[in-house]
Amino acid sequence: KAFVCLGLCVLAASAQKTQPKDDATAFANRLLASMTLDEKIEQMEQAAGQNYTPQQADELARKGVGSFLFLTDPVRINELQKIAVTQTPHKIPLIFGYDVIHGFRTINPVPIAMAASWDASLAEHAQSMAAREARAAGVEWAFSPMVDIARDPRWGRIMEGAGEDPYLGEQMAAAQVRGFQGPVVGAPDHILASVKHFAAYGAPYGGRDYDSVDLSEDALRNVYLRPYAAAAKAGAATFMSAYTDVDSVPATGNRWLQHDILRGEWGFKGFTVSDWDAVKNLQTHGYAANPAEAAQRAVEADVNMEMTSDVYRKELPALVKSGKVTVAQIDALVRPILEMKYRLGLFTNPYVDLDKFKRETLSAEQRESARKAAEQVAVLLKNDGHLLPLAKSAKTIALIGPLADSKVDTLGSWSLHAQYADTVTIAEGMRQKFPQAKLLVDKGVEIVRPTSSIFDGQAAEPKPTLLTDADKKAAFEKAIDDVKQADIAVLVLGEAMNMSGEQASRATLTLPGKQQELLEAAVATGKPVVLVIMAARPLEIGWAVDHVPAILDIWYPGTEGGHAVANLLAGDANPGGKLPVTWPRAVGQVPIFYAHYLTQDPSQIGNRYWDMPSTPQYPFGYGLSYTNFTVDGLKLGSETLAHNGTLKVSVQVHNTGSVAGAEVVQVYTHQRAGSASRPVRELRAFSKVTLAAGESREVTLDVPAAELTFWSPSLRRWVLEPGTFDLWAGDSSDASLHTTFTLQ
Ligand code: BGC
Repeated sequence: KAFVCLGLCVLAASAQKTQPKDDATAFANRLLASMTLDEKIEQMEQAAGQNYTPQQADELARKGVGSFLFLTDPVRINELQKIAVTQTPHKIPLIFGYDVIHGFRTINPVPIAMAASWDASLAEHAQSMAAREARAAGVEWAFSPMVDIARDPRWGRIMEGAGEDPYLGEQMAAAQVRGFQGPVVGAPDHILASVKHFAAYGAPYGGRDYDSVDLSEDALRNVYLRPYAAAAKAGAATFMSAYTDVDSVPATGNRWLQHDILRGEWGFKGFTVSDWDAVKNLQTHGYAANPAEAAQRAVEADVNMEMTSDVYRKELPALVKSGKVTVAQIDALVRPILEMKYRLGLFTNPYVDLDKFKRETLSAEQRESARKAAEQVAVLLKNDGHLLPLAKSAKTIALIGPLADSKVDTLGSWSLHAQYADTVTIAEGMRQKFPQAKLLVDKGVEIVRPTSSIFDGQAAEPKPTLLTDADKKAAFEKAIDDVKQADIAVLVLGEAMNMSGEQASRATLTLPGKQQELLEAAVATGKPVVLVIMAARPLEIGWAVDHVPAILDIWYPGTEGGHAVANLLAGDANPGGKLPVTWPRAVGQVPIFYAHYLTQDPSQIGNRYWDMPSTPQYPFGYGLSYTNFTVDGLKLGSETLAHNGTLKVSVQVHNTGSVAGAEVVQVYTHQRAGSASRPVRELRAFSKVTLAAGESREVTLDVPAAELTFWSPSLRRWVLEPGTFDLWAGDSSDASLHTTFTLQ
């Protein structure tokens, strides 16, 4: 206890030191009382650094623009801050925002991978490291976490979230907010989080990015809104409005979402920023007849700051003059922007310390943290005959595939500030890890990168090298010859990094290009083959599941990916990740998720298609380990649960194998009857435990009755309904240990 107090007290004391002894709201009110309307409106503008020449950016700073995004050079940041705090009438500092999605210069595994850790403290730590590195460069605001639930792997941005489940999504959302912001806004080495994309951006028709979203209030409240609510509760300082229509009202002009729910129901006191050009685009949606109406709709919806579109600057003065927008409305929108700048300490110290910047950037500590994260997110999908870890006796290892030695792909998309040279590829990691083995590294085939994604810039290098058909044939044959010479082949296949992320949806889920042929040819040699999947979405791997003995999903592992994967393949790290998303057999099953509803006898649910089972390839929550776990001895603290009580759920976890490893115990419930149908299973609690070889441990998880609350579409309110519940515990959403309890 003393230690906790010590830590918090030190933080609180240093936070105070960086801020004048003043209350943020009073400070903001005093400022507002003396600011002109134009100055206030400027605070509501965010300008994209790359859209302006340095002279123009200086001019914007002099005008008192509220924020820049995409400026990351600390020297430049200091210059602009100097203009803002010395040459504007009220000396209001700028706030610099950036997409710190999974790291800044040091890149962590992509967010869906972090969710696969099923370890909220890991996600919190990773984002606190990202915050530290970004803050040292002068970036005070991350456009992250993305907490959009995604149940459709065609949607490219599935990589940026925590997957399909609201409960796992809540844990990851709150953890990332804590990681970015620290214990209090203004904590040293921390930055503001921006929870996005509010709301329900992850459910576009067909998985097509930016398509509209049409969800029942049931689905919205019981599934999609939950992680945002958890992030608001965790104290998120800012939210970002989505591009999409939600039930035909664009999120950026949607007062019900932005005001009634976010501010009204959840008590959010921070500020919101629109997504890129989203205010202007209210016109494109057909929700505003002209730019003036677009500005008015966004103000009415409580969107405090607009990203890039300039509509506030151009239209609000006249709207105020005509009385369509009041000064009181403008003040209410500007106040939280000023408060956050104040709480961040920017009024007292807006500058970057360049020595600290050098110390923090890509430090050994950053690298180590990124490597450990990458080791903990890998999901072992299959390991017949314990082919993994690779036998120490392997003299020749063929490391094959277009992603085996690719710096850019190892990072994943949204690694905009990373530098290729920093990245350790799998081939590089393997060379260091297996110095005694002969490593035969071949691409075999090349993946043709799409040219439509916004990450083309990031993917511009390296260029394809296999240009002619003869080159391609020779490379393929060389790779297969190398497999023949090796004791074992590791094929690193998947997607190029710009095949997921923004504007990177897919209509198919197969291995792109000729990778499937390469895999089949490698298996046909008769040599043992390990498939390592590098991608940020589930892919169709039915053939591999039938023919390849070992499959490891490493997602996009980041800067230290090569070291982490080499450790995993060598058995110096043991995979303990679990799928945060149901893995379909084929794209035609999409959407497929575990928390579906039951309309007939459960024995029928596997047979709803005639051409393939309707069960997934792998269930949500699934993942193996190099050791073996059994979970048994399910016990409840009590068979009845008071409506304000907490159910204690205990199981015994046994590591029956020969190495240490981590298992994730998962608890699911189902309400048998009530005012609305409920999903067949809903995740209610999980706990990751690490056990030594041969060790057994009792694990007790809490399920507070409040977790069983749901929004009843028939009663149109939140309810906690007495009755009988099923409960399952185990190592995936297919958990078979079962009991029941009664909610009183
Ligand atoms: C994306 C946001 C991102 C913003 C700034 C938009 O296109 O949807 O997620 O934060 O750009 O880069």
